[in-house]
Amino acid sequence: KNKDRVKEQTLAYRKTHLGKSMSLQYREPLEIVRGNGIYLMDKEGNQYLDTVNNVAHLGHEHPEVVQAGQDQMAVLNTNTRYLNEHINNLAASILETLPAELSVLHFVNSGSEANDLALRMVEAVTGSKDMLVSEIGYHGHTARCIEISSYKFDGKGGKGAPAHTHVFPLPDSYRGIHRGKHSAANYVEEVAKIMDRLEKAGRKLGGLILEPIISCGGQVELPEGFLGEVYTLVREKGGLCISDEVQTGCGRVGDHFWGFQLHGVVPDIVTIGKPLGNGHPVAAVACTEEVAERFANGMEYFNTFGGNPVSCVIANKILEIVKRDQLQDHARKMGGYLKSELEKLQKDFPVIGEVRGQGLFLGIELADDKRNPEPEKAAYLVNRMKDHKILMSTDGADNNVIKIKPPMIFSKENAREVVYYLNKILREDFMVSNR
Ligand code: PMP
Repeated sequence: KNKDRVKEQTLAYRKTHLGKSMSLQYREPLEIVRGNGIYLMDKEGNQYLDTVNNVAHLGHEHPEVVQAGQDQMAVLNTNTRYLNEHINNLAASILETLPAELSVLHFVNSGSEANDLALRMVEAVTGSKDMLVSEIGYHGHTARCIEISSYKFDGKGGKGAPAHTHVFPLPDSYRGIHRGKHSAANYVEEVAKIMDRLEKAGRKLGGLILEPIISCGGQVELPEGFLGEVYTLVREKGGLCISDEVQTGCGRVGDHFWGFQLHGVVPDIVTIGKPLGNGHPVAAVACTEEVAERFANGMEYFNTFGGNPVSCVIANKILEIVKRDQLQDHARKMGGYLKSELEKLQKDFPVIGEVRGQGLFLGIELADDKRNPEPEKAAYLVNRMKDHKILMSTDGADNNVIKIKPPMIFSKENAREVVYYLNKILREDFMVSNR
């Protein structure tokens, strides 16, 4: 009883004194006090298997990362106006994973900052702010990022797209406006039409920003060939291509270190966030030599915290461990295993409309036999999984897609546990009912 009262007080304080538009997960919110590997623990000592947290890339509170951060904190933390080996080491460690064309880095503190800076680069190079973006795309919380995030401006409280943002339909071959394996050409056509309209209206294109798998849109895999063709169209008009790798980067997609590599393209700018710091705020923008030169127009780039030695040591340790422990390959194997098990579930449970994604970046779309979304069932499933101490999340325009993007140490045993409880809950009355 006392415990409940304390929890209620914590909740009441938050509601009064923290941002009024902040949300809490779960009907019965959790008070998490500790992380350890694949697990999060609440105040009551319950341990939850975390399939949500693609920030804790190596697992929560990875001891080697914690140690590296603590050690560097005791030695030096300062801004980037001094020479320092750690920032160079981190740059080299990231560049080793990228195509040679992307050779210059700017460090920032969050995914939003990375995309904000990328947008400034586009404007510096092309003289235009006009961006092509996907429906239901999300790229961050700064004013400029909100302006390119249909997930926000087309959602609750949003005011629609500003004049310089041009939204193309979500290239979703399962439930989008064009369906099926060969829908790429139709979606490319949609983009081409928008670009024609732009030209007729006398607007110059700045560029395109897109995730290689659209995360907030519901783990939507781009139809094969789509990205390459769109990059070509954008470049024909003198635009730049940004790949937002805030969610998909650092080996998560398994077959490749970066999501854009799934599509055989080379962006002009790559933005990197969440996994780079394993929870510590460090992020980066990689770009070509040409973009970097044009951005350096005389105005200094200065960022108080971006690229500080502590952040760089932490990020460097993380990349070292990703490479040393072959976590990209692990993501490929574990993701492949989990995906095939989920596809088996799909055969037994028609509410699973589609299983998709790459590596440890998967989605399960719940829909009825006419492909109408089933958000209530998705919410029920996620809340019931929590009862069994497994954390999952939903996303997509209709909140009917279960997202799976666990720490990269996710094991076969973890996969079996997730599938076991999914199988159990998918049989429950609420899940099989036809409402
Ligand atoms: N881009 C994508 C694809 C994201 O998912 C997010 C965060 N969810 C961001 C950018 C913004 O990153 P941050 O919250 O670190 O500012």
